[in-house]
Amino acid sequence: MCQYCHQHGEGKKWYLKAENYAEHFLSDIRRSKYIEHFFKDPQRLRNRIELLDTLNRMPVFVQAVIKPAIIGRMRKMHYGQVLPIEDVEEIFGFVNTVVRLPCICRQASLGTEKRYCYGLSLVPAGQSKLKEIVEAVGADYLTGPDVKGLETVPKKEALQHFRELENKSLIHSVWTFVTPFIGGICNCDRDCMAFKATALKALPVMSKAEYVAQVEPELCKGCRNCISACQFGAIKYSLARGKVAIEPRFCYGCGVCRAHCMKEAITLTERYKVPAAAEN
Ligand code: SF4
Ligand code: SF4
Repeated sequence: MCQYCHQHGEGKKWYLKAENYAEHFLSDIRRSKYIEHFFKDPQRLRNRIELLDTLNRMPVFVQAVIKPAIIGRMRKMHYGQVLPIEDVEEIFGFVNTVVRLPCICRQASLGTEKRYCYGLSLVPAGQSKLKEIVEAVGADYLTGPDVKGLETVPKKEALQHFRELENKSLIHSVWTFVTPFIGGICNCDRDCMAFKATALKALPVMSKAEYVAQVEPELCKGCRNCISACQFGAIKYSLARGKVAIEPRFCYGCGVCRAHCMKEAITLTERYKVPAAAEN
């Protein structure tokens, strides 16, 4: 179990505790202001990634001071964890409202609308303060003439979209807005700022999943579909064996490789049961 599970999950996976999605958290003015600020300006995110490049060019001892401070703040304010589709399904089992919205990261990195993000609420759509706060931001990319605004979608449709995105190698990740309140689930790839920071810029603001993938060698036919699907470079092919193997230390446990394996050779195992992966 991760630090968050101990602190906010009462021994369970923290993001499966329904209370962490409760709207009463939004009566905290600091949190609602943080959400408003977060969604207001895609340019701000773009600037942050550029600042990160500057930081990565600084001496190692400077990075060693600044990076933990940034990560510490992110853990308190806006932190993410990868989760597989079965845990998304479990969350969808207890939330009442699912709202699809344009991704601020794609707006920042691509300048285009990609509706890959989902806000979640325990209350019916008409009563969701979270939806109300985000709508009130009024940013063009959320509500402008070329976008559909915040759409309330049936859970079945949303889950189908998650599966389609997984088939395109996007990973699911759950996010806090002033921890432990969880506001939604995103679908990430290299255009996502958190992915860039975590996987490409050595600033881990998104935790690995509570799982790790493993290959059943007897079932693997060596097609390598999983290698091209994995965004973390965790799968290696052995020419001698004609099969792949997953390096547990690099695996984020997203389950994307599993979705791409036609031989059903890949399974997810609880991370704590795999000694080589348990510590990260
Ligand atoms: S997709 Fe499946 S069968 Fe193909 S290499 Fe990967 S584990 Fe083996
Ligand atoms: S090997 Fe791990 S990180 Fe790569 S796709 Fe599979 S589950 Fe995700």
